[in-house]
Amino acid sequence: MMSTAKDYYEILGLQKGASVDEVKKAYRQLALKHHPDRVGTDQKKEAEEKFKEISEAYAVLSDPEKKKLYDQYGHAGIDSRYSTEDIFRSANFSDIFGGSGFGDIFEQFFGDFGFGGGAQTSYRTRQQRGQDLQLEVTISLEDASSGTEKLVSFSRYDSCTACKGSGAEPGSSKEKCPSCNGQGAVRSGLGFISFSQTCPTCGGEGKIIKNRCRVCSGSGKTKARKDLKVNIPKGVDTGSVLRLKDEGNSGMGGRGDLYIYIRVRPHSMFIREGDFIRCKVKISIVKAILGGEIEVPTLDGKVKMKIPSGTQPNTIFRLKNKGITNLRNKRPGDELVEIEVEIPKKLSFREKRIIEEWAKVRGE
Ligand SMILES: [Zn+2]
Ligand SMILES: [Zn+2]
Repeated sequence: MMSTAKDYYEILGLQKGASVDEVKKAYRQLALKHHPDRVGTDQKKEAEEKFKEISEAYAVLSDPEKKKLYDQYGHAGIDSRYSTEDIFRSANFSDIFGGSGFGDIFEQFFGDFGFGGGAQTSYRTRQQRGQDLQLEVTISLEDASSGTEKLVSFSRYDSCTACKGSGAEPGSSKEKCPSCNGQGAVRSGLGFISFSQTCPTCGGEGKIIKNRCRVCSGSGKTKARKDLKVNIPKGVDTGSVLRLKDEGNSGMGGRGDLYIYIRVRPHSMFIREGDFIRCKVKISIVKAILGGEIEVPTLDGKVKMKIPSGTQPNTIFRLKNKGITNLRNKRPGDELVEIEVEIPKKLSFREKRIIEEWAKVRGE
């Protein structure tokens, strides 16, 4: 749900929303500063951690598409679409380091992510989990305030029951992939970094299917409709992301996750400002002068509110705890009611006489 991970801009010492050029510049400087080869042995571990941290921030923010997603949804937006491996694999580090011989450091650090050695095992594990899925759910402000349950319907991949997800026709077995010799990965050079890539023949599994399962045509998966009741907690707002573990696509090693992106419809009466809601209420000039009880809308029905005599136009009254409950600290916000005073446009003969009389009393 709400990620506690550090802000990527902060990591690079930048203002939120800094440009890709600024990101590159900041990263180049920090990378040179924190290069583990430039510090003493006692600081090495720390420098390595720091280097990984800034590299991840760079990998996300230097890619316009990921940057946009991060700017809009924060870490949740990135986590829902990319694994750490994806982030590092698609980032362009050679842009930064040119031919400066920085390659070995990536080999050393990110070997597990497919930058170098060690890939044989990691490609297999990466294959195992199914893909994450995303859905958008639109709810009313009332539902965002009270919390709600929504039925969502979507299609996802289940493991094929006929072949138990193996893709091989029941009774037959898989064979070692000839392209990668069962390793699951092939190496290719891209600039100065040598990348390991998922073997295109076997898709990283190291094995190929001789006789494909007839039900799933060898994919090991079948598409199915899924109806799911989603519990939406009170306090969500547009941009909130809920993560439902293991409700994504099926994979060899389990399901991916389902991410629900919340959108809250604008309300006809209330304007939301964080945990506060604002509304305007019209009262008669007589009520404004004499004071008394008025009816005020709230998100859970109308309530009575007392106003003092001599209430001025645009006075704002606060209804405690009638706003929106904060998603994180669970504290309720307030409702702010702005008073509008209606001046009658037409008066009857009698009304006019009374007002004139009143004016005389006031010496006007
Ligand atoms: Zn099958
Ligand atoms: Zn292969």
